[in-house]
Amino acid sequence: MIKAIRGMRDILPPETGRWQWVEQVAREVFDLYGYQELRLPLIERTELFARSIGPDTDIVAKEMYTFPDRRGDSLTLRPEATAQVVRAALENRLDRAPGMKKLYTIGPMFRYERPQKGRYRQFHQINCEALGADAPELDAEVILMLMEILGRVGLTQMRLSVNSLGCPECQQDFKARLKLFLQSKEGWCDDCRHRRETNPLRVLDCKSAHCQALLKDAPMLKDCQCEACAAHYGRVLELLNRFRVPFEENPRLVRGLDYYTRTAFEVAAAGLGAQDAVAGGGRYNGLSQELGGPEMPAIGFAIGQDRLMEILPPEAAPPGLAKTFLAVLGDAARDRALTLLQDLRAKGLAAEMDFEGRSLKAQMSLADRLGATYVIILGDREMETDQAVLRRMATGGQEQVALKELPVILANFITGKI
Ligand SMILES: [Zn+2]
Ligand SMILES: [Zn+2]
Repeated sequence: MIKAIRGMRDILPPETGRWQWVEQVAREVFDLYGYQELRLPLIERTELFARSIGPDTDIVAKEMYTFPDRRGDSLTLRPEATAQVVRAALENRLDRAPGMKKLYTIGPMFRYERPQKGRYRQFHQINCEALGADAPELDAEVILMLMEILGRVGLTQMRLSVNSLGCPECQQDFKARLKLFLQSKEGWCDDCRHRRETNPLRVLDCKSAHCQALLKDAPMLKDCQCEACAAHYGRVLELLNRFRVPFEENPRLVRGLDYYTRTAFEVAAAGLGAQDAVAGGGRYNGLSQELGGPEMPAIGFAIGQDRLMEILPPEAAPPGLAKTFLAVLGDAARDRALTLLQDLRAKGLAAEMDFEGRSLKAQMSLADRLGATYVIILGDREMETDQAVLRRMATGGQEQVALKELPVILANFITGKI
């Protein structure tokens, strides 16, 4: 038997119902804030990610699904969405229209990581990107929107950490100081010994506990911040306070990608390990130019949907439609039930019946397995009087109902009018 690729998984019902619900909640919040959906390809030119994410990042160095196509062009399954959204905005000239471009996209990403619990090689993100403004008010709004989505789907005990990564000017000063610090100490892991020469910021991200301990006295970007960056960051924090969003400042917070500037943030939630954020994002003012576009300051976030689903309280997703099952006995009843089935569906009621000639008892247990709220029992005897038995599964109570009134009566029951 052929199996799915290692690190990839199938998401099955009823879990898919919860996924749909989470996406629907996100879409509703995006609507409220004026964001519109982009649907983008899953494959891009490798160069897009190599240039935007940075050649010395773990993602580009180790984790991308890269392959030549039939012409020999190097293609990559997207490992994240931001570079792609900027690529699409520039290519489709969205940047030429006046005003901000508020965009979101929902879908799978691919990284060749060691599969482990809660981590998959195909994982899913809900992404938001706001292009075209550097105002700190936008940073605050984007964070508020993220917290609103996570709150509406039922996450509690969220911990929001924020930091400012400064502009290229502050970063240059910071990188120089950090490099000196890194060279002054020994005992870094192999990766970090390489990174301290090529990309010292990445060392801050190292997952090794030993490297993290060595970093205890490392310089912080905060100490290198220019006046404009400090003012920008101050305004973001002021607005988070005004809207009573609890947060903590984490001067060690860096994001795993090269293109971040100024505001960076992460949200951790109860149920995930210390390393695991359920969402994260930040500002990336230089990315457009990095990709050959005009100046286009921007900020965004990604929610890790697989992780979110894992920690979502079980009661969070609302129950689906109330279902009705038609249990039939006899050929005439079965034929009549086909019409009734479509009448119920036309009224917006979810309805099903057995097509395989099961016994009445087997049909009743099938109805139970399907989670039916009501069962309509229709036999040849009921047909003679144009009636059916309507049974409430929860209580077992049942009554005789005229067939032609059945759709209306059932609709009233289900919408709670009776
Ligand atoms: Zn600065
Ligand atoms: Zn390290």
